[in-house]
Amino acid sequence: MKITKVETFLVRWGDVARLPTEAASGTATAVVAIHADGMVGYGEASPMQGGVASLAVIARDMAPALIGADVLDHAVIVDRLLHKLIKLGPDGIVTGALAAVDIALWDLKGKAFRQPIHKLLGGAWRTRIPFYASIGGHAARDVDGVVKTVEARLKAEQPSAIKIRWDGARGEIDRDIAGDIAKARAVRRLVGDDFPLAFDANNRYSIGAAIRVGRVLEDLGYIWFEEPVEYYHFKAMGQVAQRLDITVSAGEQCYTLQSVAALIDSGVRMVQPDIVKMGGVTGLMQCAALCHAHGVEFVPHQTQPSIGNAANLHVLATVMHATKPAELADDWARAADTFIDAPRPDAGCLVVPDGPGLGLAIDDAMLARRRVDVRG
Ligand code: CA
Repeated sequence: MKITKVETFLVRWGDVARLPTEAASGTATAVVAIHADGMVGYGEASPMQGGVASLAVIARDMAPALIGADVLDHAVIVDRLLHKLIKLGPDGIVTGALAAVDIALWDLKGKAFRQPIHKLLGGAWRTRIPFYASIGGHAARDVDGVVKTVEARLKAEQPSAIKIRWDGARGEIDRDIAGDIAKARAVRRLVGDDFPLAFDANNRYSIGAAIRVGRVLEDLGYIWFEEPVEYYHFKAMGQVAQRLDITVSAGEQCYTLQSVAALIDSGVRMVQPDIVKMGGVTGLMQCAALCHAHGVEFVPHQTQPSIGNAANLHVLATVMHATKPAELADDWARAADTFIDAPRPDAGCLVVPDGPGLGLAIDDAMLARRRVDVRG
């Protein structure tokens, strides 16, 4: 299965009739398409800053090595590329790019063997996976605005759980602790005592404030407390995790297996690697094994509506010890007219695709309208 062509492009979201000529950062999905034996495998890169930097690295530095390589040498190809480019820095652009390549190669292998990826990974423990609605932007709302936003998503999507996110200004900490607590209380009142809730601080607290907020969340029955302190302060994250009874989670900003291991070593008991940042399908399976070895909860972060979401579900299907629902982020429907059968909410669950590879069908005409090529 020789690779014959590698394409890198953005798929822009929004009203297709009003799309600007140039893609704006944050409104597109970064896609790699790898061709072999008349088939195409699709992968998605980390969307940070639109994913443009990762696509440029694929086009300039990875594509020449991919052309002519055998798809079934997948693991060797990916490790060779990582170590070739490691001095660009393994955390970020390069690993986001490799995640896309890895997902595309798995999609190709599944299509070649006419099997869904989860079958190639060892089989599914479940094919319907409960999801939680991840609802962001609450730093900018008042209490009433938070409640109305959560209520609308609850009605529209009927999730199995809800996570409220703050998305405040980066680098600004402990800005409105009392306000944050008031919003957490109001959401608990809205959903009732038994509905599963999670609280994502988006790295906005000092250690002391995190512990104070965490104690309130314990009283309110929240089931996890996500990224209470800056992600790069692994020791502080571990200290908060070890001092609270509520499960403290982190890991969406880890780009290597080694950084996930360091987070676990710090004392964090639930990790959230993201398939489009951290090694693709192969990397996420390695994280699952690492978590299994340490008795740590494995609950991937996942904000992408189509390729990333489908790839994540294939991995989650294979995890024996699933403890929390899968993430479904805001605006998941932005993929619906292009990735026409992308997983969508269905009675509190997402259904794992069962077609070959990722199991995604693409409307080629719509893809062409939304596509902007990125070159190296
Ligand atoms: Ca988060």
